[in-house]
Amino acid sequence: AKAEGGRGRWARYDPDRAAREATSTALATALPSALGRDEFVVEYQPIVSFGTGEVRAVEALVRWQHPTLGLLAPDQFIGLAEETGLIVRLGQWVLERACVEAGKWHTEFPQARMTVSVNLSARQVSDPEIVDQVAGALEASGLPPDLLQLELTESAVMATGGEPVRALRKLANTGVRLAIDDFGTGYSNLAYLRQLPIHTLKLAGPFVDGMRSHDPAAVVAERIVDALVRLAHALGLSVTAESVETPEQVERLTALGCDSGQGRHFGTPAAPSAITELLRATG
Ligand code: C2E
Ligand code: MG
Ligand code: MG
Ligand code: MG
Repeated sequence: AKAEGGRGRWARYDPDRAAREATSTALATALPSALGRDEFVVEYQPIVSFGTGEVRAVEALVRWQHPTLGLLAPDQFIGLAEETGLIVRLGQWVLERACVEAGKWHTEFPQARMTVSVNLSARQVSDPEIVDQVAGALEASGLPPDLLQLELTESAVMATGGEPVRALRKLANTGVRLAIDDFGTGYSNLAYLRQLPIHTLKLAGPFVDGMRSHDPAAVVAERIVDALVRLAHALGLSVTAESVETPEQVERLTALGCDSGQGRHFGTPAAPSAITELLRATG
């Protein structure tokens, strides 16, 4: 059939698109009750210090173990959870789970001083209860506040007005660390960022991706990373590189003074038991 108003292009039945739409409808229907059915799991990805090669932290990353569709990545449901507001409860659940796991690691391997880093969505940051929720998760788990890092994207921070900034200050005052996630991909107002009690910038994957030899664009990517690392250090912040996939990237990032990194090169997100094994082997 000729597509209506389609400027003479032919509209085809696209089975992939139909399947995607059916899936997203199924997900939208199942998502609100998935938390009650205990279908979410948290995986942990090592964050490695370039100086020592030690695992200093792990990032908590949520997955949805769907009964028929299998293990779903956050890209498939976080947006939906944000739209429906479920992200606030889901996010709190992830926070509590992550603090419990990290509390256990801290009890068993106190000398490792391993930090757990948890992603917060814009809606969570704007929720006045966030300060109490974080305090509650820390208290219930026994995790020291300075072993919890909260990751906020630039857009999550920029979307916030006066009240959330006070919340972030309160959190930082309790000793909790704050990181800006995917730094360099959003619209950062540096004057505004400067007023926030941030400890770490997480360098967005695309910059690190670009650091491959034989690629003329690598020179530009490397200059951007160089500039961002200098900027972060000038502001007294540490820098974590995301999506580190090759030894060469580790070498270049280390040469540029980047502090730590995470990515397939060091380890993909894994069950908490894998992190316990890692601590047992190295601690
Ligand atoms: P993010 O916070 O930037 O997390 C890093 C993503 O990079 C993760 O994707 C991780 O699996 C992926 N990754 C790890 N190693 C590599 C690598 O070597 N190369 C590449 N290209 N990617 C790598 P994941 O787990 O699919 O999570 C996607 C996004 O979903 C996260 O991005 C975060 O924005 C969001 N997310 C995950 N868990 C939560 C959560 O509990 N709450 C909220 N609000 N958002 C979450
Ligand atoms: Mg993150
Ligand atoms: Mg990120
Ligand atoms: Mg991201």
